[in-house]
Amino acid sequence: MILKPSQAVIAALLFGGVAAAMPALSTRSDAVLFENVRVFDGKSAQLSGPTNVLVRGNKIEKISSAPIPVDQSAATQTIDAGGRTLMPGLIDMHWHTMLVRPTPAELMTVDLGYLNLVASAEASDTLMRGFTTVRDLGGPSFGLKQAIDEGTVVGPRIYPSGAMITVTSGHGDFRQPFEVPRVLGAPQARSEIIGGAMIADSPDEVRVRVREQLMLGASQIKLTAGGGVASPHSPLDVSTFTEAELRAAVEAAENWGTFVTVHAYTSATIQRAIAAGVKCIEHGHLMDEATARLIAEKGIWLSTQPFPRELGEAFPAGSEERAKFEEVFAGTDRTYGFAKKYKIKTAFGTDVLFSRALARRQGELLASLTRWYTPAETLIMATSTNARLLELSGKRNPYPGTLGVIQEGALADLLLVDGDPVANIHLIADPKRNFIVIMKDGRIYKNSTTASSRH
Ligand SMILES: [Zn+2]
Repeated sequence: MILKPSQAVIAALLFGGVAAAMPALSTRSDAVLFENVRVFDGKSAQLSGPTNVLVRGNKIEKISSAPIPVDQSAATQTIDAGGRTLMPGLIDMHWHTMLVRPTPAELMTVDLGYLNLVASAEASDTLMRGFTTVRDLGGPSFGLKQAIDEGTVVGPRIYPSGAMITVTSGHGDFRQPFEVPRVLGAPQARSEIIGGAMIADSPDEVRVRVREQLMLGASQIKLTAGGGVASPHSPLDVSTFTEAELRAAVEAAENWGTFVTVHAYTSATIQRAIAAGVKCIEHGHLMDEATARLIAEKGIWLSTQPFPRELGEAFPAGSEERAKFEEVFAGTDRTYGFAKKYKIKTAFGTDVLFSRALARRQGELLASLTRWYTPAETLIMATSTNARLLELSGKRNPYPGTLGVIQEGALADLLLVDGDPVANIHLIADPKRNFIVIMKDGRIYKNSTTASSRH
């Protein structure tokens, strides 16, 4: 719509003041030049010497220790970084965009519109913590992803799985006993209606549910292959899907050019999943050494995390869930030991659920990996290594291009850190103070430098 001058004046009078008072969702200049940064490139433990990095559009165009001439014909924003560290945006490989803030009770009862709005607010906070990409491993995140990608709301890139797929009684079946037995053809459970978790009890049902998620835009498929801590009817030792059911999911996903990842703690569950063609294991905290060797030999990914002790305290002392948490918690150190010993391809994700307070500690949870890894190894895992696992989505990758690194031609997801996170990993635990610039896809969402100018 083109306004006549008089209409434009009226529109400005009506809306101009309001528009000026509202923060812009983001800004994108034609180009942004970071001057005088030291680069942590996502792959090397060594920071570069003083460097200049030019971003044009949504990509890193040039990296040089020599001055980069500013293109006078275009609007180039220059950020005088004063020797601060430029690093790739962080990636969380196990996130649930829709399940971070609601309580389990809210998830099962409140309006889906409310859940989306709350998730949108959380997505903005997630990006402001420096997590520019998340892999969503269960929940109805397609709408939020669309709104973020089109610039309507602020948030990270989302690699969605859509609904996690489970069996009757499995991890993700949140039904109450009065809802059983389910008559075939009966209305779906609440978790299914909102697209949070779908229940499938045969290879044919699994195929339907997998293909539905792919149709909706899933970049990978998530099944819960074994018991879980937070589910009401799901003992940890249980393997849920049969090998034939898992294989049906793998076939459907691979026909669509992508892969299956499974929630799995125990050796039996992991081994069955690998036999069925699953490419990534989530958690794995209760695996034995032979299973760790198998994961390494087959080149399977392990996407895991050290759960914080406080998470267990969310469950009442003496409860079944608390006991399950303690078992998983105790296995963490052994699993990271195996991951290092057998050089397993290991990714990091937090798996924060139902806790805004814990979500605020997303960076701190990442930093807690320094119990097993150096700060540089930790940051490499959360950037370039995690990005390699994202690439398994193949042609279903919603953001083609190179993520997780600072190199010419890569997508411009960048953090300017006030200090050296390789020397002091704890800087990432306080993003509000220490992340001076947050850029995603070449757009600046935060800039608290004072020395920034336009040419
Ligand atoms: Zn999860």
